[in-house]
Amino acid sequence: MPEGHTIHRHARLQRRALAGAPVRAWSPQGRFTEGAARIDGHRLEDIEAVGKHLLYRWEGAQTLHVHLGLFGKYKTFHDDPPPPTETTRLALANGRSVVYLTGPTICELIDPQEEEQLRARLGPDPLSNPDATGRFGDKLSRRRVPIGAALLDQRVVAGVGNVYRAETLFLAGIDPHLPAGSLGGEAAAELWATLVTELRRGERTGRIVTVAPPDVGVRRRADIPGTERLYVYKREGLPCRRCGDGIRSGEMASRLIWWCPTCQAA
Ligand SMILES: [Zn+2]
Repeated sequence: MPEGHTIHRHARLQRRALAGAPVRAWSPQGRFTEGAARIDGHRLEDIEAVGKHLLYRWEGAQTLHVHLGLFGKYKTFHDDPPPPTETTRLALANGRSVVYLTGPTICELIDPQEEEQLRARLGPDPLSNPDATGRFGDKLSRRRVPIGAALLDQRVVAGVGNVYRAETLFLAGIDPHLPAGSLGGEAAAELWATLVTELRRGERTGRIVTVAPPDVGVRRRADIPGTERLYVYKREGLPCRRCGDGIRSGEMASRLIWWCPTCQAA
């Protein structure tokens, strides 16, 4: 499932391509025909990312809410777009650019009250609310589940997925099994700062690279090979890039997590 940095990046790039002008909307697949008709021809004012959710705001129409889920995908074309495929749930186009959406878990129009309910269910988003250190700390302090499970709970923090939870816990030197509530203010603040830094870089570049260049023997981040861009994620049994100890894995919140028993001892 795409993590928050990908969703924010979609919002930014689609905003640049489509916002500020009337947009044609239709549903080639036919499963969103009525909804598309209600936004068709309206001026797109803005696209906002909230965790893993996207909100499209129109002049004179309801807000469009999209969640990609496991299989959802966007494709954007700027010149000479190919026709949409039969599985395209929603097509958005202006004179210059076209965005095709396939396979989303959610594609619906919502009113302000439904948007409020959605926001109330979500914890702070490191990209939209970088100053929410205190709110994040408060949420953690009330959870007894392991910190590795809490990070995947969108009510605690919005936008973190399986790659960032494992990698940021490594960077912050925190054992994923530690109860979230026992973390302490300083550790929670450091973890939050790590989430903000890493998700921001991911949003900017479109890929997740958490490794520091010297840890893989290169000088620049751009030179890090694709196979060496992470510290622990999917590296079970391989030596830790910092200490050489074997990376371990286990299940947490129904997903696998990886960690270094030495670098993340406490
Ligand atoms: Zn290590």
